[in-house]
Amino acid sequence: MGFCISCGQQHQDGIRFCRFCGNQQPGEQLLARLLQEAEHIHYLRLQAQALAQQQLLQQQQQQQQQQQYSQNQYNQQPRW
Ligand SMILES: [Zn+2]
Repeated sequence: MGFCISCGQQHQDGIRFCRFCGNQQPGEQLLARLLQEAEHIHYLRLQAQALAQQQLLQQQQQQQQQQQYSQNQYNQQPRW
């Protein structure tokens, strides 16, 4: 069972036109394509999130390295 994309009435799967409002219904190919697009968008979003986390981690690591570096410099100063 599916629902009309126009009027929302329930109808059988596989019909091309809604028997309530006459609107053309998306075919299986179109539905498959939409599903594919949705998965692709989901994947892109996950990738973007992973990238943002990676960048944040790199920034934190760089800050830690800079702190360590300045501490080393302090330790390496000659003592009189
Ligand atoms: Zn309809």
